[in-house]
Amino acid sequence: MSALLDIEGVQPEIPVTPVQGQRVFIETYGCQMNVSDTELMLGILQDAGYASAQRPEDADVVVLNTCAIREHAEERVRGRLGQLRALKYRRPDLIMGVSGCMAKHVSESLMKDAPYVDLVVGPDSYRKLPDLIAEARGDAALDVRLDRGEFYAGVDPIRKASSNAYITIMRGCDKFCTFCIVPYVRGRERSVPAREIVRQARAAADAGFREVTLLGQTVNSYRDGACDFADLLAMVACVDGIYRIRFTSPHPSDFSEKVIETMAREKKICRFIHLPVQSGSNRVLKAMQRSYTVDDYLGLVDDLRAAMPDLCLSTDIIAGFPGETQSDFEATLSLMAQVRYDSAFMFKYSARKGTVAFREMPDTVSEEEKGRRLEAVIAQQNCISEKINATYVGRTLEVLVQGDARKGEGLAAGKSDGFKTVVFPREGVADHALVQVEIARTTLRTLFGRRVPCAG
Ligand code: SF4
Repeated sequence: MSALLDIEGVQPEIPVTPVQGQRVFIETYGCQMNVSDTELMLGILQDAGYASAQRPEDADVVVLNTCAIREHAEERVRGRLGQLRALKYRRPDLIMGVSGCMAKHVSESLMKDAPYVDLVVGPDSYRKLPDLIAEARGDAALDVRLDRGEFYAGVDPIRKASSNAYITIMRGCDKFCTFCIVPYVRGRERSVPAREIVRQARAAADAGFREVTLLGQTVNSYRDGACDFADLLAMVACVDGIYRIRFTSPHPSDFSEKVIETMAREKKICRFIHLPVQSGSNRVLKAMQRSYTVDDYLGLVDDLRAAMPDLCLSTDIIAGFPGETQSDFEATLSLMAQVRYDSAFMFKYSARKGTVAFREMPDTVSEEEKGRRLEAVIAQQNCISEKINATYVGRTLEVLVQGDARKGEGLAAGKSDGFKTVVFPREGVADHALVQVEIARTTLRTLFGRRVPCAG
């Protein structure tokens, strides 16, 4: 699992052809898996005749696609439901739904606390959405059953216009880290058939996407019969029109030599890996049930860097796990200093109901101390990220253009192979183009430069 990106309010557009005059608005919370699930739901609903609404006010069906990883995420969804309640009271025929991990995690309390919610649908029941919406027009509809056989083969997602297409290659997780709710809300691990993934990659290329990101909770434990993750990477790399392949998140214990060799050999596979470590203390890793030691992890990083010297790395860190002592915490700082990640997602531990840690591990670190530790890891990481970025001055990077830069008139932004954000004067360059940018200055999060002619 990773908390790579928090993406709020993402609403990919369905082509506006309302077959039955019904419109749906889906708001997405959480990680890329949820963005991908929203795209699946929109694909399923479009097939059933729904069109897209740009705002909840214009929709006949509003769905919040939720995340249960952190308590904070649940609180935000409950707050948003409170805001939308006024809409439901003004228009009682509006169907209000909650989907995703939170729907599975707290379905009963959700329906009790928010009786105006008509529809609660778990991550394995999206295929039934049209029927469930119809059912919800009479009485509240609930379906949060987990289904090991469901991987949404044959569904064509409605993707947000972008250079990157998310393709979910696995669903669920078998790792049961003691702090994590994912295996309980998304069920056991299962892999999407390789031919379906290649079909989706081809369709994405035909639709103009230049990059695909393969998604799974432990993406590198993928297996479809004899086809493992390395084979799948090689197959997707053969798809014409796809220039770049990313994947997230791999589990450190599932990184095979074959995957490393395939990455090193195949230039379409980006030189960036999000490699969650969580802690630099063997004692804490064991309590978390992470199934690797610090030495295993550092050995893997060495192997990866030996095969790909230009590799960029990011990670997840949890500060203040139950039982984490000052020396455990210092071991995390030490590991981070040793690996020198390009970036990191850093969080204070918060117990999630339903997990082993919640049931069996008393929260021994005070909130104040967790906050202090979190500040310390952030400060150290920021210092490392800034120094690494500064080494890019004078280098020329290939950048896939994503769109306008958030700040600055006439500037475009894109991603380097190593997932660095690069900003440069647009000067007529189109979105989704690959350009060469020479880096002139850098900050903690961004590299700035100017376009230069392609060397080749
Ligand atoms: S149980 Fe562990 S490996 Fe699985 S999603 Fe959660 S953190 Fe990731």
